[in-house]
Amino acid sequence: MPSEIRALFAMVARPEVVSLAGGAPYVSALPLDVVGDMIGDLVANRGAEALQYGSAQGDVVLRERICDVMALEGITASADDVVVTVGAQQALDLVTKIFVDPGDVVLAEAPSYVGALGTFASYQADVVHVPLDEGGLIPAALRETLDRLTREGRRVKFLYTVPNFQNPSGVTLTTARRAQILEICAAYDVLVIEDNPYGLLGFDGEPTRAMRADDSERVIYLGSFSKTIASGLRVGWALAPHAVRAKLVLAAESAVLCHPALSQVAVREYLTTQPWREQIKSFRELYRSRRDAMLDALDALMPDGCTWTRPGGGFFVWLTLPEGLDAKAMAPRAIAERVAYVPGTGFYADGGGRRNMRLSYCFPEPDRIREGVRRLAGVIESEIRM
Ligand code: PMP
Repeated sequence: MPSEIRALFAMVARPEVVSLAGGAPYVSALPLDVVGDMIGDLVANRGAEALQYGSAQGDVVLRERICDVMALEGITASADDVVVTVGAQQALDLVTKIFVDPGDVVLAEAPSYVGALGTFASYQADVVHVPLDEGGLIPAALRETLDRLTREGRRVKFLYTVPNFQNPSGVTLTTARRAQILEICAAYDVLVIEDNPYGLLGFDGEPTRAMRADDSERVIYLGSFSKTIASGLRVGWALAPHAVRAKLVLAAESAVLCHPALSQVAVREYLTTQPWREQIKSFRELYRSRRDAMLDALDALMPDGCTWTRPGGGFFVWLTLPEGLDAKAMAPRAIAERVAYVPGTGFYADGGGRRNMRLSYCFPEPDRIREGVRRLAGVIESEIRM
């Protein structure tokens, strides 16, 4: 089935519509001329490598640089356990391909990243949701769900979680809960897929310690340069226990032979020669000011009865409408009023999320965000009066 997000994108392309729907990073904030020169030099001077096939596991120097990036979240890893992928999305696909047989259970937060739900569906997994709140996935609910599934004799292959600034809710898993969730997953012998594209985009303080930093055997960590460098390069990775890594390389080989060499050497060169930590800092400032614009506008303008999350990083706010309203039914009326959002139902495999919507602040300028929230508040107000 086509995802609701894709269908929506076709409608919101008109310039008069303020789109709070898309999750595209603001790549124009990169020094594009510098990156352009860097890539031009790579082709001119090292084209025989940059335009050639490579290994299915990915460039070894790039994998070492990736380990430096993960060290910022407390991870100690060997480049030998990293597999470069075509975005984190391909890593998700390969992991699911390896582990999931039709009918197997995959646990996922409610709500959960729509792209992951699509991948799980494509391998005929049975997605069972576990609720989250402001502190992320709820450990007691995870334990209850695993108890029930065990009693029913179901095979649970893994728990899929986005612990930092989750897509779509914007919430972050607390440190205490990370430890509890690892403990529960160990007790039930369930793998954890830690999908972490937003971890370095926190607005306050140091990055949170990754779950993978505390359990290298149970956690498969997925990373991405889509939000910290550029999504169009399509460079992501998986860090997996050794035996899983070997399977991932085989699966990658049959899927794409090898990852695009030009993208890999571009990222390798960028991480070696450019001030990437400073660049990530400036992305953080950019997104923080957009988050502030959105939260200020929501505080000032949203009608009573609406609630929303207050993300400490990343791209998304998750809004809950008052009882009786339906975000999906309201979407065409919002587009007629020139504002777009993603209805919550796309982030559930079980029909949940009718009163929810995802609002992104990553792409529009702050003034457009305020205008979008103003239009949206007007639409919600008129729905309440109806
Ligand atoms: N996981 C999550 C939680 C995401 O939000 C995204 C991108 N929107 C991805 C994975 C895929 O990212 P990539 O561009 O690295 O394929």
